[in-house]
Amino acid sequence: MAITLTNATLVDPAAERVETGGIRIESEFIAEVGPSVRQCPGDEVLDCHGAVVLPGMVNGHTHLYSALAAGMPPPPRVPASFREILELVWWRLDRAHDAESIEVSGRIGALDALHAGTTTLIDHHASPSHISGSLDDLARGIDSVGLRSVLCYETTDRNGAGGAFEGLEENRRYLEKCALARDGAHAALVGAHAAFTMSDATLSACAKLADEYRSGVHIHVAEDPCDDQICRGRYGAALVDRLARSGITDAGGPVARESILAHCTHLSGADAQKLSSIVGAVAHNPRSNMNNQVGYAPVGSLCGVQLGTDGIGGDMFSESHAAWYKSRDARAGLSPRQIVDMLGQAARTAGRLLGRTLGVLNAGAAADVLITDYVPATPVAADTIPAHLIFAMGSRHVRDVLIAGVWAMRGRVAILPNEAGVRRQAARTAQSLWNRMLALPS
Ligand SMILES: [Zn+2]
Repeated sequence: MAITLTNATLVDPAAERVETGGIRIESEFIAEVGPSVRQCPGDEVLDCHGAVVLPGMVNGHTHLYSALAAGMPPPPRVPASFREILELVWWRLDRAHDAESIEVSGRIGALDALHAGTTTLIDHHASPSHISGSLDDLARGIDSVGLRSVLCYETTDRNGAGGAFEGLEENRRYLEKCALARDGAHAALVGAHAAFTMSDATLSACAKLADEYRSGVHIHVAEDPCDDQICRGRYGAALVDRLARSGITDAGGPVARESILAHCTHLSGADAQKLSSIVGAVAHNPRSNMNNQVGYAPVGSLCGVQLGTDGIGGDMFSESHAAWYKSRDARAGLSPRQIVDMLGQAARTAGRLLGRTLGVLNAGAAADVLITDYVPATPVAADTIPAHLIFAMGSRHVRDVLIAGVWAMRGRVAILPNEAGVRRQAARTAQSLWNRMLALPS
């Protein structure tokens, strides 16, 4: 049965197109878009009453393992640096995860994203006490809400050689699984924490594994000055040189073309420009960067910048608003169009990895569609789309969501059974997770 949306204000930010009309959805794809689309007997028809319809949003870098972190007990002492934020907060939380808490984190993180109109998640996962099979646990949680995902496991030497090996093997297992399935819902990258917690051998092993599966490496780069400082002090080479030597940012290489570098906050202007022109994408996470007080990436001069939340929820409307206001505060000279392009870049990256066209309202594209209740109170045209997205629209306007042609949310209620019950159960899982975290040696 086809689904037909009528009387919609179709807003396609990537194509810079606004049209009044409808969309016909057949199976998992958009079949028609235009002023009037076919309706056949038996079709499900939804009158949008002039409200804006958008393509689903994509979160270009997140950590669902933090989805149960709101209100968790404070760290044993106040972190005095970015490195201590990792050591005292996030590396204690990720170590406390088990199979159940990972699955629940996936479900709650995906629900949060869904309500904000985010339909695909590019996630970077870590759970050192439960590595093998953890990406399946996470995917199970996300699948129960209906979102698409691109997952990886965070390879690192911070848990010894055994932990690094197990991380690599979890990436390999999931890459193989996704390569066999090729279902458009699941894709894999090779996860790498950051060069400052990885030996040269481990970095190279990540690049080699990505090359084997024609994939890329998803890695944090220069989020804080400590990344380069520790690379020089412990490994005798600059961060950018270590990344290049490993093959991750090998110019023209197949791995670099699919890789995602998260942050790039503390590279020199020349290094940042060079790396961004080599790799698939640079993930910009302005709210996380502000929260961790690590500074502002030179995003105005970079290629392929995509927005991510870095674990601060899944709301890409809010992240784009923060990206805009941060750019203004920093006098970076960005235009609203450049901010909206960062949303489009995340969709292109995920679409390429998933084998689907995401982030556009075209015939043949994936039927990942947001129906809002936002009826523009000022004229909306191709050149004013960014202004409406940044200054007027928000996740509060997202009413119904289709993913791969299937309803994931109707009337602001997720389709998965008993959403309220799922949330109550998650609170119990969160308490157990926090108890395990508190029991860890500080
Ligand atoms: Zn991150």
